[in-house]
Amino acid sequence: MRAILCLIGMTLGMALAAERPNIVFLFSDDHALNAISAYGGPLKDVAPTPNIDRLSKEGAIFTRSYCCNSICGPSRAAVLTGKHSVINGFVDNDQCRFDGTQTTFPKLLQKAGYQTAVVGKWHLVSTPTGFDYWEILNGQGQYYNPQFITASGMKREEGYCTDLIADKAISWLEKGRDKSKPFVLMCQQKAPHRNWAPAPRHLNLFDDVTLPEPANLFDDYANRSETLKKQQMQIARNFSWGNDMKFKGDNLFPAHFTNEGKNNEYERMSDEQKAAWDEAYEPANQAFIEAMKAGKLSDQDVTRWKAQRYLKDYLRCVRAVDENVGRLLDYLEKSGLAKNTVVIYSADQGFYLGEHGWYDKRWMFEESLSMPFLIRWPGVVKPGSRNASLIQNIDYAPTFLEMAGVKVPEEIQGRSLVPVLKAGNDTPAGWRDAIYYFYSGEGTHSVAAHDGIRTDKLKLMHFTGTNEWNLFDLEKDPQELKSVHADPAYAATLEGLKRRYDELKVQYRVNEATVPADKMSVPWWKTRHQQSVQQAAAGGHELVFLGDSITQGWEGPGKPVWDEFYGHRKALNLGFSGDRTEHLLWRLLNGELEKVDPKAFVLMIGTNNTGQRQDDPAKTASGVRCILDLLRDRKPNAKIVLLSVFPRDATPDGRFRKMNDDLNQRIAAFADGGTILHLDVNASFLEKDGMLTKEIMPDFLHPGQEGYRRWAEALEPTLVKLGFPKHEPVPSEK
Ligand code: CA
Repeated sequence: MRAILCLIGMTLGMALAAERPNIVFLFSDDHALNAISAYGGPLKDVAPTPNIDRLSKEGAIFTRSYCCNSICGPSRAAVLTGKHSVINGFVDNDQCRFDGTQTTFPKLLQKAGYQTAVVGKWHLVSTPTGFDYWEILNGQGQYYNPQFITASGMKREEGYCTDLIADKAISWLEKGRDKSKPFVLMCQQKAPHRNWAPAPRHLNLFDDVTLPEPANLFDDYANRSETLKKQQMQIARNFSWGNDMKFKGDNLFPAHFTNEGKNNEYERMSDEQKAAWDEAYEPANQAFIEAMKAGKLSDQDVTRWKAQRYLKDYLRCVRAVDENVGRLLDYLEKSGLAKNTVVIYSADQGFYLGEHGWYDKRWMFEESLSMPFLIRWPGVVKPGSRNASLIQNIDYAPTFLEMAGVKVPEEIQGRSLVPVLKAGNDTPAGWRDAIYYFYSGEGTHSVAAHDGIRTDKLKLMHFTGTNEWNLFDLEKDPQELKSVHADPAYAATLEGLKRRYDELKVQYRVNEATVPADKMSVPWWKTRHQQSVQQAAAGGHELVFLGDSITQGWEGPGKPVWDEFYGHRKALNLGFSGDRTEHLLWRLLNGELEKVDPKAFVLMIGTNNTGQRQDDPAKTASGVRCILDLLRDRKPNAKIVLLSVFPRDATPDGRFRKMNDDLNQRIAAFADGGTILHLDVNASFLEKDGMLTKEIMPDFLHPGQEGYRRWAEALEPTLVKLGFPKHEPVPSEK
């Protein structure tokens, strides 16, 4: 009988596995839509991508697919989490380290019985979590003889990166995985990222052609935000002599080339690879040098020469990507996997191929905002579909979850694309009308911080530093050369879009209170943060207090009470004077949370948002919500005691008192009956008529010693309820 039941169980299990599709996610780095022939750009005939194009013939191509933050790490973090950068914490490449303890789609698929693997570029600083198999490049990775990292260490491999990554993907499909389970494989290329080092077999590709150049190669940046002129990503000004333009020796023309080092890829090559490289590049390099010395080239000629060198190298790298997409598709065919495998081709963001005179990405303009998205899903996506729905990288995680029949967690901000995928060329009713974009303005290339929204036909951009608005009518001005924000004909449109922008920021919880921010430039804060990380790492804390100066004050006027109530309870004080919600968020994302595993957190934060900056309490509540989500996701076993923010001002009708009352009403609603307990101890500080006295809070903001005693006593019953042993007063040693 047991054997029969077992057999039935197995058959059911197998049937279920057969229904759930495998997912092969082919992801490149910086691949512009204009460099994929299926998108029909100006390079489609000279540099076709027949293998990537196959996916659109046999499936669908999406023409309005966008990233939420146009740089490598943030886009990848958004793909894994289904959340905007602000919420997943990976806001920029300069400062961030992906918090791998958070919920990601590979983890959820793994739990649901999928095999999960990632090979190739990762670029999230921390090591991958949620994968049965991973083998990743070191940071940005290298094109020639790259270093690969696995759980057992780092090792150099001979060969060309794009080929090696595809080899590894195929090898895992063939020999590495557990074939009784469905799988998701993320095959992530470094190419065609800078510095565009082509494979030996492609070094002479395009030698005999002149590639078409964009009409706005010589953009003057007029009629848009003044910050555009300050960027440093221009073909004319910012290409380096050695690394980008592949010259050897000293920079001979510093007026036209920067000195940012030698071609690092050349340094990695074998003698044979170097010989092939020199044979391909040196004749053209020497011809250019001679023409320059003879004074034959104008400034514009030089820019054009650089654009050709850049574009050809870029497209040569794309060629290897396309060939390897072909190899993978062939393998899926040959192995019989193709019929039940979803294949997606995408890239972390787009790229400028000379448009606006640029290389690189970052801006919310179309070329770098766009992500390629082509998908083949046999039996579901109608072959040959061309879909213009507004989709975004935060949608991938919920899409994969729905494909696998896994419930999409509420916190995920993206939307499953499954209904769009089933709609052929159409946009299903109720689909989104706008996407939100955010760029933090990290140091590289001096691109200013900005955010904005893009609708069907319009784009609104806001430049944080200069508080400028730009508005583009994408139908009339597809190259985005003139902002019409000041044009009276667009006044109503501008107002409407600003409202939609505000709404989306609320929906995605983006405001000053939710964008993680550090104070590492403040010496005491930096030191306290470093000490806190160390203390947290020492472990063993059962109770962790999170907050601002009111919490930090347990080390000041509250010290005797702390010693009495918490001295024996392995408690940790993570209160930092002056902190607002965004600072606490930053600290939690940068080490203070990593090693602690408490029974409970006691959280009180927000009075510096409503006080110092006098933020709208709704925004502050959003910040508190983000902190709660983060704690609940990263430390699912801990309870959170969320305290109402303490009263301020002497009288109940004081301005700050009322702001905090409003905030407290909002955060009280965050109690979830399980993990999050809301506790309001404010009455214990107030007189019957609501007055606050100097005896309790000498500055009407921070408790004095008696205030701390009342806080501890009011908190006590909750701690006991959470399983902390009853408080036994510790006799003071006198
Ligand atoms: Ca990238």
